Amino acid sequence: MEEVDRREPEAGEVLVRVAASGMCHTELHFKSGLLDLGVAPVTMGHEVIGRIEAVGEGVSADRAGERVIVYYYLGCLECAYCRVGNEHLCPNLRAEYGFISDGGYAEYVTVPARNAVLLPDAIPDVEAAPIGCGVTTAVHAVKIAEPRIGEWVVIYGVGGVGFGLVQLTRAMGARTIAVGRSAAKLHKALELGAEVAVNAAEENATERVRGITEDAGADVVFECVGTEESMQEASAALGRRGRLVFVGYSPDSFTVHPIQLVVFEQKVMGSVGATLNELHEAVDLVERGVVHTVIDRTLPLERFELGLNALERGELVGRAVLVPGR
Ligand SMILES: [Zn+2]
Ligand SMILES: [Zn+2]
Repeated sequence: MEEVDRREPEAGEVLVRVAASGMCHTELHFKSGLLDLGVAPVTMGHEVIGRIEAVGEGVSADRAGERVIVYYYLGCLECAYCRVGNEHLCPNLRAEYGFISDGGYAEYVTVPARNAVLLPDAIPDVEAAPIGCGVTTAVHAVKIAEPRIGEWVVIYGVGGVGFGLVQLTRAMGARTIAVGRSAAKLHKALELGAEVAVNAAEENATERVRGITEDAGADVVFECVGTEESMQEASAALGRRGRLVFVGYSPDSFTVHPIQLVVFEQKVMGSVGATLNELHEAVDLVERGVVHTVIDRTLPLERFELGLNALERGELVGRAVLVPGR
């Protein structure tokens, strides 16, 4: 914990008093050094909920007092990616809150007014926190994988993104298999609509998926874990025209023999973050009850290490959410 000056809003910006800040698995990648974006020190936290306390020049004074959720990318807004809304792929990011710019593990965060998206009253602060990354990442990954009605979808890893994927793919008419190593998380996945839960600590997940799909394999596999073991199982569970979408990663590398991709016409893809529009869609999905966020616990901001440690040990069923000033 460190005392730092809050940054007053410049033209086009708003000052947000943080009410809730979700703890994402990505924080562990920063902690271990696997993810190094070359900016330090920087305040972590990219799932930010708060209330606008002050507005900069050119921002309507009416926005003061608004409850908002932060969109954590700020692209150049001029390149070919930004022009069509794919700001998350911008090669010239101006800011990325909680990654290369100060984020929400704080009492205040200052962001452009366009990055502060109105949050409906129906979604309480803590429940809203995981929308910013967990739900938006799921929305984006589903669009990349394009699961169709009746297809078998395997979700490896039942954390913040995995729970969103279970609910979204189920709502789209796909058949979902959740794979994890924690009975409590798998139980939650079943509650949220997974058709089958497979405990990879107790059984061979590939064989189980092959069995369930009558040997056809999965049409879509979301890889939210990315360890050597899970990647091998995920790849081996993939069927003809299967799409393997990487969402999570670890220090391990992925190996596949191209003959598998060739003869089964499989695709291997990656999915990162989400667009501003997908944040709006994620908020709408939660407001309508299509997707429920899962909260394990709330912690005062100064106890953030308890949250990180619990995350590291894999103890959390859903998000730990930091609440400043409690
Ligand atoms: Zn995240
Ligand atoms: Zn750009």
